Amino acid sequence: MISLKNIVKKYDGQTVLHDISVDFPDGKTTVILGPSGSGKSTLLRSIDLLVRPESGTISFPELTYDYSKPLSKKDSFSLRRKTSMVFQNWNLFPNLTVTKNITEAPINVLKKSPADADERAAKLLKQVGLDGYGDRYPSQLSGGQQQRISICRALAMDPEYILLDEPTSALDPELETQVLRILEDLCKAGQSMVIVTHNMDFARLVSDKIVFIEDGKKVFDGETHEFFDNPTPRIKDFLAGIS
Ligand code: ADP
Ligand code: MG
Repeated sequence: MISLKNIVKKYDGQTVLHDISVDFPDGKTTVILGPSGSGKSTLLRSIDLLVRPESGTISFPELTYDYSKPLSKKDSFSLRRKTSMVFQNWNLFPNLTVTKNITEAPINVLKKSPADADERAAKLLKQVGLDGYGDRYPSQLSGGQQQRISICRALAMDPEYILLDEPTSALDPELETQVLRILEDLCKAGQSMVIVTHNMDFARLVSDKIVFIEDGKKVFDGETHEFFDNPTPRIKDFLAGIS
């Protein structure tokens, strides 16, 4: 489990996360929902240190880190190893083949042998329905295919958690479906995930838990069925698309 406690994040003196505490259970999918600008990306990025909160702690069973304290290289490496982020715009290296995109970090960061890394990449490509695409370049692929490659790239690091920030919001609906299906498979396989999404049908389908934030404050933290089947008036408005 990842446990965030009392997270406070400010930008230019403005508080964007107000004392947020939340648990992300192991082997489950947690979906973070909330209006635009509510702090979802900031919260997600705090987990892998792309964002550094002013205060609060992050804990894994064997490791706790206090954001207000200096971070050693060793702790930073251990923390980052636990998660892999998949971005909205996939961010593949345009000058590298699909296989090299997937194997770059395992070879350079995990010090895997190129042969082992290539073998794993081929397996992952098969898993996402892109068997045989290893020698292509990102520009030769659709957005949905590129996003599936970026999911492979995240999985290739063998993280405990995959973090996804609006993974399908840049995709056309038919390409979105392909990517959501892959995520659904990962979810069924028990991969621990934290997903920010605006797709309510998907959120309802895959998540075990919902965290709803608004204006940097946690408004709901509980089981998915409770969120959708027994919504508070505020959540009802949100679900109706009022805000
Ligand atoms: P969400 O992902 O829910 O849309 P964000 O976490 O991106 O929200 O942003 C939360 C708030 O923090 C917003 O008011 C946003 O404008 C502000 N913010 C986000 N990133 C930065 C930044 N790098 N510098 C200044 N303000 C930021
Ligand atoms: Mg965001």
